[in-house]
Amino acid sequence: MSLASLSAPVLSRIVSLSVAIANHAGKIIRDVLKKGELGIVQKENARDLQTEADRAAQRCIISSLSQCFPKITIIGEEGDEESKQISGKVYDPTPESTIQVTCPPHLASLGEEEIVVWVDPLDGTAEYTQAYECRKSGHQGVCKTLGVTCESLLDHVTVLIGIASGGKAVGGVIHQPYYNYQNPGSELGRTIWGVVGGTVGGMPIVAPPEGKLIVTTTRSHSSSTVTDAVDAVCPDEVLRVGGAGHKVMLLLEGKAHLYVFASPGCKKWDTCAPEAILQAAGGILTDIKGSPIPYQASVPFRNSTGVLASAPGQNHAFYSAKIPQHVKDNLKA
Ligand code: AMP
Ligand code: MG
Ligand code: MG
Repeated sequence: MSLASLSAPVLSRIVSLSVAIANHAGKIIRDVLKKGELGIVQKENARDLQTEADRAAQRCIISSLSQCFPKITIIGEEGDEESKQISGKVYDPTPESTIQVTCPPHLASLGEEEIVVWVDPLDGTAEYTQAYECRKSGHQGVCKTLGVTCESLLDHVTVLIGIASGGKAVGGVIHQPYYNYQNPGSELGRTIWGVVGGTVGGMPIVAPPEGKLIVTTTRSHSSSTVTDAVDAVCPDEVLRVGGAGHKVMLLLEGKAHLYVFASPGCKKWDTCAPEAILQAAGGILTDIKGSPIPYQASVPFRNSTGVLASAPGQNHAFYSAKIPQHVKDNLKA
């Protein structure tokens, strides 16, 4: 494996390889959509779907990571079957395509055995499939059914590789396969990475506007508790968009102050990478009560007590205190 500097800390090397693999997974996701053979399968319910893009991206990510780091524990959204199917197409980045990632001293001595990687090969599957249906029906410009363009929904899709140790998110990678979709001719896709206590790479961090509160929440998995929690923080504006990765990107880009999701639908693979990058940038991601989300391999996958995330510089505890008690009581661990 042609990984840059084998003498670098394990965490730095995993993040560096994950950046290259996530770029490759993004290409797989674009290729499946272009081919139009989505192979949609319903998982828990009609709003919880899996496509060939989810499966193929997971096979690529897990086979590539586990070949290079055989002792790490990897948990992927699409389950053991997809994880065990080593596709034969292990992605081996060239030295030029890997980046140098710095790691703070307290994480520099982590061993492979101490690391759990949470993989969401395609976050925002609902929006990915809706964009596909929209394109298939030949809609041009703003889709009559969705009220937005198909391409703008693809912007909600991300690849998430979250790295945890000691039950805490310590590093993460978010890849946006359709970043730059508004600029034909420019290279599609962008990858952001971060190490807690270290730095964020791949994008500039922008502060959200002062004097107003912009909240982002789900567009496809809402409920009365989700709405009650959003209303309780008294937002000036609400951005209902898909994907946990995309919503945390809005916090990092200065487009929203707060991500509020008072529902048990999000899983550890949705929050681990976004939490690590947000924390590296100075923001916070917890459950809706303000308590840390645990990331040991043995914990339940579901974030049953919801998600609350705030952009760098926001008063996280203040907003957590505003969430109504009946909403908190409804979300039991
Ligand atoms: P959303 O904000 O609705 O895009 O959700 C963020 C992540 O949580 C996505 O990966 C969703 O698939 C997942 N999620 C949220 N709510 C649910 C739910 N009710 N059922 C299944 N997955 C969910
Ligand atoms: Mg997801
Ligand atoms: Mg997913």
